[in-house]
This record gives sequence, structure tokens and C-alpha cells, in this order.
Amino acid sequence: MRIVFIGPPGAGKGTQCERLARHLNIPHLSTGDILRAAKAAGTEIGKLVAPIMDAGGLVSDELIIGVVRERIAEDDCAGGYLLDGFPRTLAQAEAWQAFLDESGSQLDHVLELRVPDEQLVKRLELRFSKLENPRADDQPEAIPNRLQVYHSETRPVVDFYGSQNGVLRVIDGTGSIEDVFSRILEAIGHSAA
Ligand code: ADP
Repeated sequence: MRIVFIGPPGAGKGTQCERLARHLNIPHLSTGDILRAAKAAGTEIGKLVAPIMDAGGLVSDELIIGVVRERIAEDDCAGGYLLDGFPRTLAQAEAWQAFLDESGSQLDHVLELRVPDEQLVKRLELRFSKLENPRADDQPEAIPNRLQVYHSETRPVVDFYGSQNGVLRVIDGTGSIEDVFSRILEAIGHSAA
């Protein structure tokens, strides 16, 4: 099964993606995690993306598309994957569509996790105050920029999938982790029962 998971910072996307990938037994590909690992390892890509990520900006479409294509080519993705954090711009979504068309495959579901901005800001502030080692982009200064980037760059991705045949499922991301996960399973026709 091929799934794209979209959601704003602070929506609980990482947590839900981890559970869903485990449930479906497919690899969870988080572009944020991949880039953070590159940063920590000090690779060329890592050095390039570090200042952009720390400020809450987006790395270039070209770079991230290359990173994802490379990862998807690995054996564990043959039976499907859960993409978390990609595509994040309309150009990435179009490039991904071209790649899928080329390889004669298609996405089964695009899940959009929705949480109102006021709640996101509260959750991110709470997360920051509790973290012993907050990420640079968890700093309160970076939050408005991350939300703004989400609205300007990533909402068009939702619209792009919304205009395709029934692939987009909008999930209410408020409430407990359990509640949200049940909604996700229901949306993809995999109810827990
Ligand atoms: P968030 O908590 O904002 O969802 P992620 O862990 O998904 O964070 O990503 C962290 C950072 O990595 C982003 O703010 C951005 O700088 C970079 N990044 C991740 N995925 C992409 C992408 N598809 N395109 C551009 N930049 C990306």
C-alpha cells in the first residue's frame, strides 16, 4: 500500500505515522527524520540543509525529490510505503506524480491530518517546554514560520490531491492519540475491530 501523510507541525503526524506503518507493516519514510540523520552524520547534504531546517524553512525541491527517490528504490519499499513530510510543495507533488506514472504505480491514500492553528501553537509550546533537548525548529521563534510555510506551500498539495479521484481523506486530528488513530484506520478501510 502506498500512502502519503500530510499534516502541519504539531499535529501529531509522526506519532500516527509510526503506528500506521507498524499496523500495515510498511516502511515509514519521514523526510524530516532522513534529513535530521544526514545533519547529525555531517554528510554533504546534512551540512547543506542544517541552516534551512533550523529556521523552519523548506529545503530545495530538487534535493528532497532526489533523497526520496533514492530511498524508495530500496528493497523494503517494493510492497509499499508511508511517506511522511513529502510531498510538501506543489512542485514536489507534481514530480512525485510523474514518478508514479513512469513506474506505472499509484497512491492508495493521501491522508490529511487537520488541527486548528491555535491548538498547534499550544501543542508546540507545550512540547518545547517539556523537551530536554529541543530541536532547533522547536524554538518558539521558528513556529510562526513553520505554520506559515505549511499554509502557503503545503495546502496547495492538499488541493492537488483533492482534485484527483477520491484519493484524499481528511482526518480530524483533535482528541486523543487513540481516537485519531481509529479515525485513520476507518478512513483507509482498516477498522481496528
Ligand atoms: P514538522 O514537525 O515540521 O512536520 P519534519 O520533521 O517533517 O517537521 O521536517 C523538518 C524539516 O525538514 C522541515 O521544516 C524542512 O526544513 C525539512 N523538510 C522535511 N521534508 C521536506 C520536504 N519534503 N521538502 C522540503 N523540506 C523538507
